Amino acid sequence: MIIQFEQDINESQKEAIINRIKGLKYKPTEVKTQKGTYLIGIGKKNFDIRSIGSMDGIKDIHIVSDDYKLVSKKWKVNHTTIDLGGGVKIEEGGFQIMAGPCSIEGEEQIRKTIAHLKENGVSIMRGGVFKPRSSPYAFRGMGIDGLKLWYELAKEAGIKIVTEVMQVSQIEEMDPYVDIYQVGARNTQNFNLLDELGKNTDKPVMIKRGISGTIDELLYSAEYVFSAGNERLLLCERGIRTYEKATRNTMDLNAIAVLKEKTHLPVIADPSHGIGIRDFVEPIALASIMAGADGVIYETHEKPEEAYSDGQQTLNFPESAKLIDRMKKTFALRESF
Ligand code: PEP
Ligand code: MN
Repeated sequence: MIIQFEQDINESQKEAIINRIKGLKYKPTEVKTQKGTYLIGIGKKNFDIRSIGSMDGIKDIHIVSDDYKLVSKKWKVNHTTIDLGGGVKIEEGGFQIMAGPCSIEGEEQIRKTIAHLKENGVSIMRGGVFKPRSSPYAFRGMGIDGLKLWYELAKEAGIKIVTEVMQVSQIEEMDPYVDIYQVGARNTQNFNLLDELGKNTDKPVMIKRGISGTIDELLYSAEYVFSAGNERLLLCERGIRTYEKATRNTMDLNAIAVLKEKTHLPVIADPSHGIGIRDFVEPIALASIMAGADGVIYETHEKPEEAYSDGQQTLNFPESAKLIDRMKKTFALRESF
């Protein structure tokens, strides 16, 4: 069950509610986020919710049969909107594009990417400064100095930043420069990191699906962040590892449709990592939109063949401009149904 407390609930009302929940053999956990205070009750017994719902201090009570609670669509009719300020929103019935290089490489690259995004009406730039690389000898990112440089240029241009956080100790130093934290596929189940992103920042967090993670596991990861205090969350389907060798990963379009049904959180598609081959990024991006994605994140670079990472799946700027145009048309088609 999820109980939403009234804003002005007092301690004795809270105590009475918690005692009632315990009396039903439900385990109560209090959750305080930017948006409200909730009591999550975990238990099995059937009870009449009206007997609790009428108690003082309760705004609403919901039975949620899913094992994850706060991220479930069962209790929250309205989809979550992520408002980044400056008129940039990720929301139901809208469509956001996040584009940029796999890795931030330097000032010239940042400037050129920002110019390309602005020319094409894109407001959110992706890029990694802390890079999880399969080989320790590969480029591992420009680090915090790269992020600060990027932030200055992005701010000037009115462009928002989405970038990966790899460990707890990075949150504090990154926080002033980030618009959306990305939790990468290798960290989807780093529960300490998820907990800290719940407790120590109010910035939105986009959680990518684990390399061999299930849809439910992704939802549990989001539940970690929400229950630790941060409900500004997005989910990202980025392909999973299967027995198929013809592509880098297998983009699970099913997951997009299923997630839209299971959760009120926005769902973003990453066709670049999802298929891993430049020529197929566009069809998979367009298919993701038709499957219901609220946004697409993909990799672009002025010279993909010279990119420090993931060049094989990165679009050059003309390819990127064509994709943006086709995504907008595809979104308009979906909305016309
Ligand atoms: C990335 O976005 O460049 C990245 C490393 O993504 P993922 O965690 O999905 O592999
Ligand atoms: Mn990449």
